[in-house]
Amino acid sequence: MQISPSEQGIRRRLFPAATAAQWHDWRWQLRHRIRDAATIARALPDLSARELRGLHAPNAWRMPLAITPYYLALLADDEPDGPLRRTMLPDMREARHVTGEYADPLGEAAHTVAPGLIRAYPHKVLLLATGDCASFCRYCTRARTAGKSTIRWNLALAWLRRNPDITDVLISGGDPLTLDDVTLDKRLAAIRAIPHIKLIRIGTKVPAVLPQRITPALVSVLRRHRPLWISVHFTHPAELTPAAAAACRRLVDAGIPLMNQTVLLRGVNDDLQTLTRLNEELLLLGVKPYYLHQGDLAAGTAHLRSTVARGRNILRQMSGRVPGYAIPLFMFDPPGGGGKMPLGPAG
Ligand SMILES: *Cc1c(COP(=O)(O)O)cnc(C)c1O
Repeated sequence: MQISPSEQGIRRRLFPAATAAQWHDWRWQLRHRIRDAATIARALPDLSARELRGLHAPNAWRMPLAITPYYLALLADDEPDGPLRRTMLPDMREARHVTGEYADPLGEAAHTVAPGLIRAYPHKVLLLATGDCASFCRYCTRARTAGKSTIRWNLALAWLRRNPDITDVLISGGDPLTLDDVTLDKRLAAIRAIPHIKLIRIGTKVPAVLPQRITPALVSVLRRHRPLWISVHFTHPAELTPAAAAACRRLVDAGIPLMNQTVLLRGVNDDLQTLTRLNEELLLLGVKPYYLHQGDLAAGTAHLRSTVARGRNILRQMSGRVPGYAIPLFMFDPPGGGGKMPLGPAG
């Protein structure tokens, strides 16, 4: 895999001693995540006044800052206040809490059956395998636990063994693909060994923010525990780089179906052209657009939340223009933990 010109630029500016092999190594990328304003400012000389204000007000941040060097190169290619920058760079408006917003917008605490295990539905559970992510999205629904792990594996596994109604385990976090191969293999094997569990799913943004992680060794670990489906998280077509496309292709070629989940974000992807391009290009990579989420009511995310009317309108215009396969379901997860509801493309 080539290092793109913007990746070369970041490497030269921030990591002049790093070799190409290190740059391509997912562990190196994770270890060298950028976590402070000064380094971002050094890497992105064209920051807007708003971006600078947001970066230099850490007391306003709703969650920590972390961006992989790989993804920082995408931000360097973006324009000031551009769509990818809005998803990853802190903003002063994160300090603003609007009425009706919550620290726990999906009411997950009330549905927690064991530390890190959430049951909102009779037959499926959500397992928060880690608190860590390769990069932190500013609109995160779990900002309250970003970087902090709550899972107690032995308790979660014991609960799953005792509850034969559960047939579907969705492993998310944090991002489960930030775990190393040996740990992940052990965890997946333990879940697979529970006879009533049929489907394992993984939710991850790693193919978008750390595509180097999708190594042949990881793919063979995942293959061993099929039927295993992966929900990826691309929000904008600019994330579909050759490296990200290769990561998706490696998984699809191994017989692991990929579905995409996107959040409808104001000024990022809430327009017809962007969502059409994103979903069509995903489809061509073998990734089925699954859910388009209306931004949930996470505290400090109002500036990134788009409207239901806008989402419906875009989906209505998309149908008929693109293959039906490219049209996701528009969903809202209301506060209180009743589970996701379809909003429909209606109009
Ligand atoms: C979204 C979610 C799931 C999975 O839902 P699907 O609609 O089957 O993809 C499971 N548990 C929780 C708590 C969720 O929020």
